[in-house]
Amino acid sequence: MIEYQNLVLQNNQFKNLCNQDLNCNSFLFESNDEIFLNNFSYCFGQHIFCDNNQNKPCNICISCQKVSLLKHSDLRIYPKNNKNILVDDIKDLIENVNLTPVESDYKVFIFNNFSSANIQSQNKLLKILEEPPKNTFIILNVTNINKVLPTVLSRCKKIRLLPLTKQEIQNNVSLNNLSDSEKESVLDISQGSLTKVLNYANNDNFISTFSNCLKTLTDMRDSKQLIKYSTMLSASKQIFEMSLEIFESVFRDVLMIRLNKPNLIKNNNIYEKLLQIATTLTSDAVDLIIKKIYAIKKQLEFNCNYVLLVDNFLLYYLEVKFLCNKK
Ligand SMILES: [Zn+2]
Repeated sequence: MIEYQNLVLQNNQFKNLCNQDLNCNSFLFESNDEIFLNNFSYCFGQHIFCDNNQNKPCNICISCQKVSLLKHSDLRIYPKNNKNILVDDIKDLIENVNLTPVESDYKVFIFNNFSSANIQSQNKLLKILEEPPKNTFIILNVTNINKVLPTVLSRCKKIRLLPLTKQEIQNNVSLNNLSDSEKESVLDISQGSLTKVLNYANNDNFISTFSNCLKTLTDMRDSKQLIKYSTMLSASKQIFEMSLEIFESVFRDVLMIRLNKPNLIKNNNIYEKLLQIATTLTSDAVDLIIKKIYAIKKQLEFNCNYVLLVDNFLLYYLEVKFLCNKK
């Protein structure tokens, strides 16, 4: 089922896309918000199949209904194993792409998690992307564009999805299990990503991790106390990843305070704490810390030992704070 259909149907980028003529058959949608990305593509499939002439997708006609249940016989969704794109998926496409549609005038092939396709698989796809058979649409959903071959990129119409607004998320996602200030925190830290909102809102550890991160930044005095804080933040890899998102969002706000741009602050519900952190750091120092967070995120992608990375980050923070105090 398309779970967040309304969210996509009301999205401006989606509406713009639907208002354009379909003068291209190979699309590449890019976003690190995987759940929204997949929903976006499914709704675009609905738009292609919709039987109505106006206001497509109507979400009422039989074709729209079938796509909505992801049960349209002319729609194929990969990967078949729901994890990674395999050569078998591409083979399946090649076998099916030239068959005539069964119940409509079109055929649509959607590849979720296309960034997982290896070079061999991507190369196999080139010829079809270049010249898809008539009335056939290929849609690639990509969370990491760096893993896509330039030859694939150049054959597709690329659309980079923008982060969602708070309002869009609030209107379409039930966050009833959270208090108002918890809601604020989840929405702020998620930075417009539906995937993150759902992940944090359903994670019992989010609220405690959020408060632990703030405590670390305001209360940790020197390296002797490091172990206490590092133990909290390294309870699991998932908690550390969440902590990094929280730190990034907090330091971005701290930077806005230092740069005197209070209207750009996102975590207004913790303004006092932000102010407290901002008084101990110069804007250059905050900038360095944010860069360090980016670097650590990269290292995590390469499966570095996260416990070491926690210590590494905390030490760096103490060091930068110490240098600021000396000036
Ligand atoms: Zn329809």
